[in-house]
Amino acid sequence: MCSDRVEEFDAIVLGGGVVGVSVAVHLQMRGLRVVLVDRRAPGEETSFGNAGIIQREAVFPHIFPRGLAELFRYARNRSTEAFYHPSMLPRLVSPFFRYWHHSQRDRYLAIARLYAPLIAESVHDHAALAEAAGAMDLLRPTGWTQAHEDPRKLEEALAEAEVMQREFGVTHQALDAGALARHEPHLRQGLVGGLHWQQAVAVSDPHALTLAYVGLFERLGGVLRVGDARTLSASGGGWRVGTNDGAVTARRAVVALGAWAPEITKPLGYNAPLFVKRGYHMHYKPDGNALLNGPVLDVTNGYMLAPMRRGIRLTTGAEFADRDARPTPVQLGRAEPAARRLMPALGTALDPKPWLGARPCTPDMMPIIGPAPGQPGLWYAFGHAHHGLTLGPTTGRLIAEMMMGDKPFTDPTPYRAERF
Ligand SMILES: Cc1cc2nc3c(=O)[nH]c(=O)nc-3n(C[C@H](O)[C@H](O)[C@H](O)COP(=O)(O)OP(=O)(O)OC[C@H]3O[C@@H](n4cnc5c(N)ncnc54)[C@H](O)[C@@H]3O)c2cc1C
Repeated sequence: MCSDRVEEFDAIVLGGGVVGVSVAVHLQMRGLRVVLVDRRAPGEETSFGNAGIIQREAVFPHIFPRGLAELFRYARNRSTEAFYHPSMLPRLVSPFFRYWHHSQRDRYLAIARLYAPLIAESVHDHAALAEAAGAMDLLRPTGWTQAHEDPRKLEEALAEAEVMQREFGVTHQALDAGALARHEPHLRQGLVGGLHWQQAVAVSDPHALTLAYVGLFERLGGVLRVGDARTLSASGGGWRVGTNDGAVTARRAVVALGAWAPEITKPLGYNAPLFVKRGYHMHYKPDGNALLNGPVLDVTNGYMLAPMRRGIRLTTGAEFADRDARPTPVQLGRAEPAARRLMPALGTALDPKPWLGARPCTPDMMPIIGPAPGQPGLWYAFGHAHHGLTLGPTTGRLIAEMMMGDKPFTDPTPYRAERF
């Protein structure tokens, strides 16, 4: 119910996903009085159902395929890792062209160098929040593993991993067939080997982690409100949003609305070039004592199996569809038989229906973090694509440092909104 009450804060954070919650915690830790506004309970959209990996190795963001054979394979729309709604193609031409452009090898390497300083802080920044939130039990330092069945692909992955080790300090372990079988004994026999990313951290319940950060925010004095970010308006030299408990105002506001950010930024004159890669998950109860020691990527088929509190979570690759189109879990249907071959004791499906989330993606594969062009006191923190869980706390720290006028831990220029 709306009331006439107006409450003043130092900052409003719009969006209670892992990014918005992390921003809110960091601002509250720096002494601001912060209100976090979401239209539903925090952590229930994309941050709810991801694969749960804090990807310390992910200095190379996900590229658009450039090889003709690969493009042809995706164009046929029969692969497991990518699927598109043909009706979306006209709307995707422009973002895809820009995404393809930025995926050219030299441009891509330059982007990786700009992206790496964020990724490098990810595990450390999560540990700092998780420690303060009493949630270290949700973080498992297992790393994650690529499982390969094609020796040429494994060789290529290992060569890329060597570059990442030399240039970015990302460590890995090469696993031959025997070592992979010892590392993950419940995968099928006959795989050619694997690549273990050792520094990554697996989260056993990403939703619980976001809620633990919300708990920390509230213990520090932060306030949660249910409200619609689309009511955001400039007011008295600051910003105002309607909530179920009356309006809230503040000199500063942060848009951390993931895939929904354009609904707020477009009316303000910033046409964020966001597109969405949707993804699904389903949990399974493994047979007997079967388990996975950490998340595993089936490289051939492009889905992930991750051990979670609830069971083994299968997450799918990219679905190019309207954000709000009804679920079409075609990739889950294709991935499940492959997953049963990879892990014969995968067991019974646990969820009544597949979960669906929307990765908010930008054409240059980097998030938008920084002041909103032409809107004093307004800040943007969205577009984290495949790495929003990984980068939530790091984005929170960076934006709080910028907003408070502190020296940012890295040069924020590459992530500014004006680059588009
Ligand atoms: C299948 C899958 C697997 C993934 N695996 C990983 C992984 O292993 N590691 C990793 O780092 N990332 C992973 N990701 C990506 C990651 O989940 C996202 O990047 C991240 O969750 C984005 O967080 P966010 O806070 O920006 O957005 P969200 O979590 O989507 O939060 C946005 C919030 O805005 C709120 N909102 C929207 N509109 C309004 C409105 N009008 N008013 C008020 N509130 C509103 C929503 O309710 C929501 O709470 C995966 C994603 C998918 C789909």
